[in-house]
Amino acid sequence: MLEIKDLKVKLEEENKQILKGVNLKVEPGTVHAIMGPNGSGKSTLSYVLSGRGGYEVTDGSATLEGNDLLELEAEDRAAAGLFLAFQYPVEIPGVGNMTFLRTAVNAQRKARGEDEMSAAEFLKVVRAKAKTLKIDADMLKRPVNVGFSGGEKKRNEILQMAMLEPKMCILDETDSGLDVDAMKLVSEGVNALRDENRGFLVITHYQRLLDHIKPDVVHIMADGRIIKSGGPELALEVENNGYADILAEMA
Ligand code: ADP
Ligand code: MG
Ligand code: MG
Repeated sequence: MLEIKDLKVKLEEENKQILKGVNLKVEPGTVHAIMGPNGSGKSTLSYVLSGRGGYEVTDGSATLEGNDLLELEAEDRAAAGLFLAFQYPVEIPGVGNMTFLRTAVNAQRKARGEDEMSAAEFLKVVRAKAKTLKIDADMLKRPVNVGFSGGEKKRNEILQMAMLEPKMCILDETDSGLDVDAMKLVSEGVNALRDENRGFLVITHYQRLLDHIKPDVVHIMADGRIIKSGGPELALEVENNGYADILAEMA
């Protein structure tokens, strides 16, 4: 599904190397978690994969089902089936949430060579999915994320993901700023999308999200590299001991 080889990335503006050789392979049907200290490059990895500007790839590769992601524009990466739920979801004043979702869904369908969803069908689907995420009708009408609380923004990201049905979902600290109830809703939204053809990369600071979204593989990222990989027990080790032991062991 997603294969990243020796990915090295620096900032365009400054001569600062952020990713120093990331290797990662996510198989269809699996959930990989990435944990790691602040500033280790987790968000940078997700931004680079999704096609955000400001970064220069100096080495390595990233492919989705064999397609070279790094050659594609951001919208074509989305059309290829990649989705990123942002750590800090963007507000889009003037664009209604429902309009935004419908445009995104139909653009994706067009890119896949499928017919547009009819207005009636779209309404039915979006209302059903919104309901499971406890997103009310008013939130669907308001401009995207404008005036939404932190938890509402994160739930709205999951609604976008549920509507787009991507092949590869990347969630960047979707749990940060969520209370326990919102985290459960978000986790249920993610778990509902788990299936044998879809891959997930869940970036999180905290083990508690992984109590709800059970990962197959856990990676620890530090200073621009994945320094250790293991099973779910690795997340518990971090929860109990912090990163210091792992960092010392690796050094
Ligand atoms: P994480 O998500 O693991 O906390 P980030 O990917 O956000 O880490 O950041 C990795 C490093 O890159 C940090 O040292 C951060 O300060 C730096 N960095 C990221 N983006 C920028 C930027 N636009 N300008 C300056 N430094 C940046
Ligand atoms: Mg951070
Ligand atoms: Mg981050």
